Amino acid sequence: MQHDEPIDPFNGDPADPSAGLEDLGEDPQLDPLSDAERQDVLEDLADLEIYQALLSPIGIRGLVIECEDCHEPHYFDWDLLRGNLRHLLNSGRPRVHEPAYDPDPDHYVTWEYARGYADGVHDTLSEGSDDDS
Ligand SMILES: [Zn+2]
Repeated sequence: MQHDEPIDPFNGDPADPSAGLEDLGEDPQLDPLSDAERQDVLEDLADLEIYQALLSPIGIRGLVIECEDCHEPHYFDWDLLRGNLRHLLNSGRPRVHEPAYDPDPDHYVTWEYARGYADGVHDTLSEGSDDDS
């Protein structure tokens, strides 16, 4: 029987050093992502690579995301999106309020559009390599 996970030095220690630091404020206890959430973020990152590869050649600079906080569309270029997802992965917290500066909406599409576009390209490629006939 192997134990791969590192030993938590504070496991079961009642004198957890993070206790009592609440009034330092600002930075509430990090809430790590669950495995399922991590998996979602990793899949988003993988999708993002595909979308960028497919869409940037036709002039798309990034994605537009409807913000749950301010209910306005925010525009993120590819690098920003990747940075945000990596940040989420590392810290467990989203960093959504750094949209692109003065974006041109014509150059941004939704996740749904990007997904549909990628599916369409995939279908076209599948039809093109039809060796049944
Ligand atoms: Zn917002």
